[in-house]
Amino acid sequence: TLAIPHARAAVEGPNTNLPSVAGSRLTVPLTDGTQVQYANLDHAASAPCLNAVQQAVDEFLPWYASVHRGAGFASQVSTKIYERARQVVREFVGARRTDEVVFTRNTTDALNLLARALPANTSVVVFDTDHHAALLPWRGPHVYRVTPTAEVERDLDEALARTPTGPRLVVVTGATNVTGELWPVTRLAAVARRHGARIALDAAQLAPHRPVDVRELDVDYVVLSGHKLYAPFGAGALVGRPDWLRAANPYLAGGGATRLVTERAVSWNYGPERHEAGSPNVVGAYALAVACQTLGRSWDAVVAHEEELLARLRTGLASIPGVRQLSILGADTPRVGVVSFTVEGHDPGLVAAYLSAEHGIGVRDGAFCAHIAVNRLTEGRALRASLGLGSTAEHVDRLLTALRRLVTDGP
Ligand code: PLP
Repeated sequence: TLAIPHARAAVEGPNTNLPSVAGSRLTVPLTDGTQVQYANLDHAASAPCLNAVQQAVDEFLPWYASVHRGAGFASQVSTKIYERARQVVREFVGARRTDEVVFTRNTTDALNLLARALPANTSVVVFDTDHHAALLPWRGPHVYRVTPTAEVERDLDEALARTPTGPRLVVVTGATNVTGELWPVTRLAAVARRHGARIALDAAQLAPHRPVDVRELDVDYVVLSGHKLYAPFGAGALVGRPDWLRAANPYLAGGGATRLVTERAVSWNYGPERHEAGSPNVVGAYALAVACQTLGRSWDAVVAHEEELLARLRTGLASIPGVRQLSILGADTPRVGVVSFTVEGHDPGLVAAYLSAEHGIGVRDGAFCAHIAVNRLTEGRALRASLGLGSTAEHVDRLLTALRRLVTDGP
């Protein structure tokens, strides 16, 4: 277990109930002066903290100390917790025994770290509809941006056929943050393998909704963010094959990444510490690990809850005149609980403001850090409702009622 002395929060045993989230009773003011329970339909941006995480962090706060270097008891506790958290994240993504688990700040940080660790002249193939975190870190002459069609495997195959000899990396999103659509990761991995390419999976949006198993999916790297996984901000991870990571220069230079420093030379650590210079975010890593453990024991309940609400949301939206749901891969593609849509004749920013001010509903509007995708699907901006453990049928119904009222009566 992730044991803190005297703590009560350790997660134990499988949980058939839905994990609860903090803040589910928050109320917000409306323009008419009343208060209403907040309907958070913006889980894809950041998910509220699990109660189990909140309690665990609360119990850890008096104990945290510098890891790896201190002889004091609190340092020993923190070091154990930090390394155990690494193990929990490893198990959460089904990593291979030899895989490295590097703690990062978030998914963006993890992908930038991977980009810095690529061998020279690596060809990188990435879908241009991806989140900017997955689209932008790659540099050099061999970056291939693929526009996905309904036949993504063929798109990838053709792109890989154009790459020169040398190392290759394919970047695939597990579930897109724009439409929630699940990408056929295993099939894309099979295409990549035929070309001798490695695969990096952006699981920022997939991991909060579905189990991720790097061996089953046959991917080489997986990245995720704690704040989308019901833990607070500031911790994420890159998990994957160690060889490129160990051969690369440290992501940051500084204490913790070094084995020995003399007047003349520096020798760097080989393990994950190589890329974790500076005092690490022990509390964040612990919070992330408790979230992983809690979700990992509750998948059946988590998936069932979300699928029920997603069906309610999608059917409801489809019944409102002028509401158009967006799709990159085709309307029938399976998805997680993320739906982007437009309301004909209504500006997305104004609709989002109306939903918040008059109905206490939080949705996202804009281009969701995926400008190319949103520009291609609509005129550059849309609305996004995203479900999670804090969502209820009442939240969904409130959104549908508010949208119906908007299209019927105007704002
Ligand atoms: N990838 C996807 C699919 C995302 O949805 C996000 C965040 O929205 C990211 C990457 C970037 O995550 P972070 O901002 O935590 O680095």
